Amino acid sequence: MRKPIIAGNWKMYKTPFESVSFIENFLPLISGDEREVLIFPPFISLAAAIIATKDHTVHAGAQNMHWLNEGPYTGEISPVMLSAIGCRHVLLGHSEQRLYFGETDDRVNLKLKAAINHGLTPVVCVGETLTEREDGRTEETVRRQIRMALNNVSSTEAHRLVIAYEPVWAIGTGATATPEIAAEAHGIVRHELAKCCGERIAEATRILYGGSVKPDNISDLMAQDGIDGALVGGASLVPETFAKIVNYA
Ligand code: PEP
Repeated sequence: MRKPIIAGNWKMYKTPFESVSFIENFLPLISGDEREVLIFPPFISLAAAIIATKDHTVHAGAQNMHWLNEGPYTGEISPVMLSAIGCRHVLLGHSEQRLYFGETDDRVNLKLKAAINHGLTPVVCVGETLTEREDGRTEETVRRQIRMALNNVSSTEAHRLVIAYEPVWAIGTGATATPEIAAEAHGIVRHELAKCCGERIAEATRILYGGSVKPDNISDLMAQDGIDGALVGGASLVPETFAKIVNYA
């Protein structure tokens, strides 16, 4: 049984004040704990969001991190710093980091190992670009991203891992992968996970779909075998809209 995760990636939106105000409006709109709910505010708002969600089943995580504990790396945040403010989840390898800030598979691997060592749950993002899909390289791309992220990670270490399959052409574009396309890619991700970490881990790992998820497509996506949740960008910025996604039927 894989408990569904609905996660909101706030990207570079929401000041600390706006984040707390979102949380105050959002929490009363959701109930029950059969779904895990995560939000990923920008760094500046993370501590405030963690305090505002204290004692609640919703957790706030970081959108990225460095792999070292400390050092002369201006602008970076370390796993030690995240743990120190009570952060327990971290997004790694988001396509916007890969596309605009030169994030590489090797660095995602270093960050993944650091996250595991510090007891953080890594949510590793993978997905093909439009060109890769059109060239028939979706499977090769996704398998490479998974394999490299998990390089030298043992099955024991991978037990908390979460993967988000996010086709880059569907992120922020309004173009969602059909549930069938998403399910097929999730099958590839799970198969590669089994090759890297064994069947047991592959079966236990939650694989989320991301890319223009909205209240009107969440149910069809979640009805697919192997889709264990969603990573939601734009539609997670408004409490009522995100709550509709979390409360999908
Ligand atoms: C994302 O940022 O991970 C994402 C999926 O964005 P959107 O839902 O806006 O496509």
